[in-house]
Amino acid sequence: MLTVKGYAAQRADSSLAPFSFERRAVGANDVQIEILYCGVCHSDLHQARNDWQNTLYPCVPGHEIVGRVTAVGDAVTNFKVGDLAGVGCLVDSCKTCPSCMEDLEQFCEKGMVGTYNGPDKVLGGHTFGGYSTHIVVRDEFVLHIPETLDLAAAAPLLCAGITTYSPLRHWQAGPGKSVGVVGLGGLGHMAVKLAKAMGAEVTLFTTSEAKVADGERLGADKVVLTTNPKALAASRGTLDLIIDCVAAEHSIDLYLSQLKRDGTLVQVGAPERPLPVSVFSLIMGRKRFAGSLIGGIAETQEMLNFCGEHNITADIELIKMQEIEQAYERMLKSDVKYRFVIDMASLKA
Ligand code: NAP
Ligand code: ZN
Repeated sequence: MLTVKGYAAQRADSSLAPFSFERRAVGANDVQIEILYCGVCHSDLHQARNDWQNTLYPCVPGHEIVGRVTAVGDAVTNFKVGDLAGVGCLVDSCKTCPSCMEDLEQFCEKGMVGTYNGPDKVLGGHTFGGYSTHIVVRDEFVLHIPETLDLAAAAPLLCAGITTYSPLRHWQAGPGKSVGVVGLGGLGHMAVKLAKAMGAEVTLFTTSEAKVADGERLGADKVVLTTNPKALAASRGTLDLIIDCVAAEHSIDLYLSQLKRDGTLVQVGAPERPLPVSVFSLIMGRKRFAGSLIGGIAETQEMLNFCGEHNITADIELIKMQEIEQAYERMLKSDVKYRFVIDMASLKA
């Protein structure tokens, strides 16, 4: 066992604060990683504050983890000490159900194990995430990070990257397709970069006037400020696919109206309350309203390799662990450019 330092929320209404806990001894199939950087996902904030009513406390968030391997079990062949390693939102699944057999571990029919707030099958209790100095993970759930990428800026690929890459691939974003992205936050800015790299024509929808120029710089062909009814009217009915990354209540009907006939609106943002949809928004034009959850391990590796080839990382602001509450407050105000990443050296000092 290894005693590690972390940061945890003890209750929905308490700030994150220092918390020490044990990581399991390295088993035959385990990889132990010293965490160097961990991205800050809006899901961390939802979970720390119990927005989804399922948080187990103490809660150590963090599922955008990159670091170096410090130990491996006897049966591990794909990692060695000193390798770069990444861990995303999943640390285990049954590996035998139909979903797992199709490399869709995120939909494991026996229940996947989340990197935090999941059932810890080895130690009992629940899992603790990447706001900590080390983690021990089953080798099949550890990813290889391309050596050419900036390590801190690569951390957000482990959740924001795969969560947007997976639906873009599933709904075949590419040349000749018009793709919309709603919300320029952590997920949204990755969706813009990835859709553009796949060859799609990209339209960004933002509520923030100050982000229009950044949207274009990040690769959007068109940026629609959603407070401008004329701009919304001009893009009505033009999109094949929309990836909606908004973390709060907003109008689904508005974005369904931006789709072409047979277009698909994919919800990846996860607001705490149900979103109303008018049936007429769907039946007029045979449109689809769909959802998507992160991605499987093989697809996460494919995404990392794609990002390595296209030199894609997140635009980040590096913070100290001690600055997490200020980062959360800025996130709630849509003031993120465009992902906070925690430098774990600040926790070790
Ligand atoms: P984020 O960085 O906070 O970005 C969210 C963006 O949504 C904001 O920057 C803002 O963009 C827009 N927005 C916020 N409030 C809005 C409102 N009231 N109306 C319209 N737009 C608003 O969050 P994130 O980390 O990208 O995560 C986004 C959501 O995805 C969260 O709910 C998170 O839990 C969820 N998530 C889901 C999955 C999955 O597997 N499905 C995985 C990871 C995260 P503008 O300023 O451009 O409008
Ligand atoms: Zn996430």
